[in-house]
Amino acid sequence: MLLTISTTYSPATDLGYLLHKHPARMQSFELTFGQAHVFYPEARPEKCTAALLLDVDPVGLVRRPHGQFAENFALAQYVSDRPYVASSFLSVAIARVFGSALSGKCKDRPQLVETAIPLKAQVSILPCRGGEKLLRRLFDPLGYTVTAGQHALDRQFPDWGQSRYFTVTLENTCRLSELLTHLYVLMPVLDDEKHYWVGEAEIEKLLKHGNEWLAEHPEQESIARRYLKHQRHLTREALAQLREEDVQETGEATQAQEEAAVEERIGLNEIRLATVTEALKQSGAKRVLDLGCGEGKLLRKLLAEKQFEEIVGMDVSHRALKIAQERLHYDRLPEKQKERIRLFQGSLGYRDKRLTGYDAAAVVEVIEHLDVSRLAAFERVLFEFASPRTVVLTTPNIEYNVKFENLQAGNFRHKDHRFEWTRDEFQSWASGVAKRFGYAVVFHPIGPEAEDVGFPTQMAVFTREDSAEEIT
Ligand code: SAH
Repeated sequence: MLLTISTTYSPATDLGYLLHKHPARMQSFELTFGQAHVFYPEARPEKCTAALLLDVDPVGLVRRPHGQFAENFALAQYVSDRPYVASSFLSVAIARVFGSALSGKCKDRPQLVETAIPLKAQVSILPCRGGEKLLRRLFDPLGYTVTAGQHALDRQFPDWGQSRYFTVTLENTCRLSELLTHLYVLMPVLDDEKHYWVGEAEIEKLLKHGNEWLAEHPEQESIARRYLKHQRHLTREALAQLREEDVQETGEATQAQEEAAVEERIGLNEIRLATVTEALKQSGAKRVLDLGCGEGKLLRKLLAEKQFEEIVGMDVSHRALKIAQERLHYDRLPEKQKERIRLFQGSLGYRDKRLTGYDAAAVVEVIEHLDVSRLAAFERVLFEFASPRTVVLTTPNIEYNVKFENLQAGNFRHKDHRFEWTRDEFQSWASGVAKRFGYAVVFHPIGPEAEDVGFPTQMAVFTREDSAEEIT
């Protein structure tokens, strides 16, 4: 199968810099399923075309252990279309061969990476389950001019009708990384098949590569469904995450910023973070998680405390994580500090191996962003599977809201809050959790007290009951 990418940007041969592949050289790459070759059929200043030719080994495919192509019939290696069509193999090849271009990196032409240039991609052969209609529904909203030539099932027998195979040309003025990202995600979507096992990691890939465009795409549901191989729970999770992102992307400020606006008068955020840091210190923890870390304010405080040897921030929002990374000046941190801190994207709604083995977890102003129906899952993810010795968790006390002058009566502190709890509600939830998962819990108020309504923030510190002997 062949993918060509052309540009008429002047000088067109700069395409070589963007792709990190010299126009005068042919290069070959070994992949687990065959070979990829990159060469330039034309390289003039007015027009330059790069070609990625993928040579999939048909026999190797059938012999792959546990491969889905190891069908139980002798002809499988001859009748499979996989070696000859653009599919998830081509996506993998793009990531391997054009990885830097895909993620928009180019040291030699940093400005060009950010520039929309005239691009034309041709893919042959592209299988489209859903036909030309779907092809257009996927690429039109992204600004492409689509030309599609459908191939007959068998040219000798026109009566047999059309196949699902197309030669497709896509033209757009956009960044090269956008074009590659769209191809990377949408080719397997059109094919509606993947050559490898699809698990939770695929959600992350989809959200990472779809970060800039998927939330607005009218076909986001079918894209997620097909990308995740029709696995309902994965699709649901991906869409939920997309929508969470969307809430943040569309608002002017991130969730943490808006909340801060309501609470700033009493400097609540600062007091809350100081209190949480103190509670984590008191617990004796060395390795800590900040779950729903947002823009990383707590992470910064934790980094300043030598006691914490390993600090991990996790959030569902890529955007928040990006801001966190910038605020931490991560790239400029001395190596020693860098080694202490890590950020990754993930959701508290799903069991995640990366969260096990920590001493303590902070969950600051996060649970009220979860749907009530997802709380039970969150409880298991944190208290049963991640199971840190200490959990420090905060949430608003709704009774206090009447004291915020800039908050209309009846409103939550943030529009994304799914609930806010009274002191009784919080304490009975937290006590239930403690009991069910074998933790002891104590409550601490945070912020200035007001008559009758208590404190603005409520904090629960959970300690695993079987952990007394672990404390150092
Ligand atoms: N802890 C930070 C941010 C609070 S705002 C602070 O105190 O400043 C709530 C954060 O929770 C947001 O960054 C949001 O993206 C994140 N969040 C919402 N749902 C989540 C989920 N299911 N998993 C992980 N993080 C989530």
